[in-house]
Amino acid sequence: MASVLWFGGQLVLAGRLLSAEDFIRFLAILFSVMEPIKSLGNLNNNIQIALASGQRIFAVLDTPNPIADSPGAISKKDFRRDIEFRNVWFRYGESLDWVLRGIDLRIAREQKVALVGPSGAGKTTLASLLPRFYDVTRGAVCIDGQDVRGIRLQDLRRLMGIVTQEVILFNDTVARNIAYGSREFTLEQIEEAARLANALEFIQQLPEGFQTVIGERGVRLSGGQRQRLAIARAILKNPPILIFDEATSSLDSESERLIQQAMENLMRRRTVLIIAHRLASIIHSDLIVLMDDGQILDMGSHEALLERNAQYRNLCRLQLAGAGEE
Ligand code: ADP
Repeated sequence: MASVLWFGGQLVLAGRLLSAEDFIRFLAILFSVMEPIKSLGNLNNNIQIALASGQRIFAVLDTPNPIADSPGAISKKDFRRDIEFRNVWFRYGESLDWVLRGIDLRIAREQKVALVGPSGAGKTTLASLLPRFYDVTRGAVCIDGQDVRGIRLQDLRRLMGIVTQEVILFNDTVARNIAYGSREFTLEQIEEAARLANALEFIQQLPEGFQTVIGERGVRLSGGQRQRLAIARAILKNPPILIFDEATSSLDSESERLIQQAMENLMRRRTVLIIAHRLASIIHSDLIVLMDDGQILDMGSHEALLERNAQYRNLCRLQLAGAGEE
């Protein structure tokens, strides 16, 4: 720029080859093409970065999903009788150890079953076989006697609601987060679900109520609030089967109470598989399944297990009583 100014200035001052107006015009044009020319230089850089990112994105998109509808998959719209784990063996990879070893468990309709046991026992893995996040390595998981691998995936997952510790929220409004992108629900239905989930009060206090946009992964909400949104989601979906992975981290006792109450609303008249960390949830279950090292050690009512199983007594005393409020 300096040399252009100097050279052009000379020409103008000499008063011959270039008039002052032309020189200013020339400078204006030069300024306006400067940026585009610079960005042209960066173009190749950007293209290379985009190509590298694109490759990685497409590698993820192209990953084949081993969980897919089998060719003869049947439709199943309701849940009538029971869920059965039949001699289920599971490992996460052929070279890895067995995580579940010969699990036999029957859950009757509207029964509430709590899975308890030390961390790493296989509780989460067992629960994740039901919606087919993974398929069994051996044995079968059946709903009303029908192997889950033979049911259309969409139907299978419509039968269940899942409330986990890690609630995934989208960067969208509260209402759309509860409806999970589905447009088939009215705002009244969404509000009713939020009310039953004990979430109405805090939602109404947000700047724009149900229309407030929550940040990426719900960062602007507390852990307890996020979990209540997940519960509202499950209430709205209204599935017959519920899988609940209770939070291990302790919440303040007020959130704890609100969640407990919301879960009671949600669990009513449903079949529930709960990975329990709170003594209160365990006591309210119909059947308690004590797991360790991929096997079921014992099952029965809280009282029966307390009486006959030393490991259960220990677990209640050490792990659960510490986290629970009773
Ligand atoms: P729990 O819920 O009782 O704490 P998990 O089902 O989470 O137990 O884990 C059981 C075992 O499986 C653990 O030894 C864990 O390390 C292993 N495991 C869990 N998830 C995976 C995974 N995605 N890949 C490999 N191993 C896993």
